[in-house]
Amino acid sequence: MTANEKKTMRVDVIVPCYNEEENIEVLFDRVQAEEARIAASGGYANSYDFSYIFVDDGSTDGTLEQIKHLADKGAEDLTAVKYISFSRNFGKEAAIYAGLKASAKGTRGGRPSDLAILMDADLQHPPEYIGEMIRMMEETGCDTVAARRVNRKGEPKIRSAFARLFYKLMNRYCDIEIADGALDFRLMSRAMVKTIAEMPETQRFSKGIFAWVGFDTRWLEFENVTRFAGETKWSVWSLTRYAIDGFIDFADSPLKFAGAFGGIVATGSAIYLVVEIIKTIVMGKDTPGYASTICLILFFGGVIIAILGLIGEYIGRMYLETKGRPVYVEKESNIEE
Ligand code: UDP
Ligand code: MG
Repeated sequence: MTANEKKTMRVDVIVPCYNEEENIEVLFDRVQAEEARIAASGGYANSYDFSYIFVDDGSTDGTLEQIKHLADKGAEDLTAVKYISFSRNFGKEAAIYAGLKASAKGTRGGRPSDLAILMDADLQHPPEYIGEMIRMMEETGCDTVAARRVNRKGEPKIRSAFARLFYKLMNRYCDIEIADGALDFRLMSRAMVKTIAEMPETQRFSKGIFAWVGFDTRWLEFENVTRFAGETKWSVWSLTRYAIDGFIDFADSPLKFAGAFGGIVATGSAIYLVVEIIKTIVMGKDTPGYASTICLILFFGGVIIAILGLIGEYIGRMYLETKGRPVYVEKESNIEE
C-alpha cells in the first residue's frame, strides 16, 4: 500500500473526569498534538482519526463547561468531542463503563470506532505515549496495549507498600492475573471494548475486568508521572475499600462493620492471652484454667464474627447486584441516539 492508500482507523479517546477543570483543555491539546504528530510521522501503517468521549462524573467545578467549550471548538475543525454528564458522582468505574459503552455503540453515526483509548484527565497518562501504543498494536497485531508504570515515584511510600500487597494477594487468590502497576491507560480493539461494554455486572473493577476478558495484551512501561493540576480523589480509606471490593469483586456497611469488629475482638483476645501468659509466669496462677478459657472463647467469638462479616460481604454484593440498578444515571449528553 502506498502512503495515500492508508486505512483510516477511528479512535475514541475516553476520559473519565471528576473535578478536572484545570486539566481538560491541556489534555485535549496534548492529545490533539499527538494525533498530528502521528499523522505527520509517516511511520505508521494506518492513519488515525481521533474523537473524544469525556465522561463528567458529577463534577462540582467547571469541568462540564470546559468540555462543552471543547465540543464547540472541536466542531469548527471537525473533531468530534462527545460527552456524557452524570447526575451525581458515581465513581471512576462507572465513568469508564459509560465511556466504553458509548464507544461500543458508536458516537458518530454509522459504525463504531475501530479503537478506543482510555486515559485519566490529570495527565498522569501522558498523551505522548499514544503513538507508541498504536505502533505496538500495529507491529504485534495484539488486541490491547496497556500502560504499566515501572516505579511509583512521587507516591506516598505507605500507599506503594499496600498497593504491592494488594497485587500479591490478588494474583495469588484470584483466577485473574493483574500486573503490578497496570494503569487504566489502555488502547483497545473494538472487539475488546464491545466485550467489556456487554458485561452486565453493576459493581465493576476495571483492572480485574480487563484481565478477565483476556485478549492478547502487550505492556508499555513508563515512569510514574505526577498529576498536572488538582488533587487525587483517593483517600487512604477509599483506596482500601477499592482494594477490598476488587479483591472480592463483588457490600454493606453493617456487614463490613461485623468483619472489622470480629477482627478487633480476635486481636484484642490474642493480646490478652499474651498478657495472661506473662502474668502467670511472673505471679503464678490464681484460678487455674480460667484465663485460657476466656481467651479461647473470645478468640473464637472474634473469628466467627469476622467470618460472618466476610460472608456478609458476598451477600451484600449479591443484594446490590440483584437490584439491577444502573451503574450510572446520565443527566445530559451530546451523543445522539
Ligand atoms: N475520576 C472519576 N470519578 C471519580 C474519581 C476520579 O471519574 O469519582 C477520574 C479523575 O477525574 C481522573 C481519573 O479518574 O481522570 C483518576 O483519578 P485520580 O487522579 O484521582 O486517581 P489517581 O491518579 O490518584 O489514582
Ligand atoms: Mg491521577
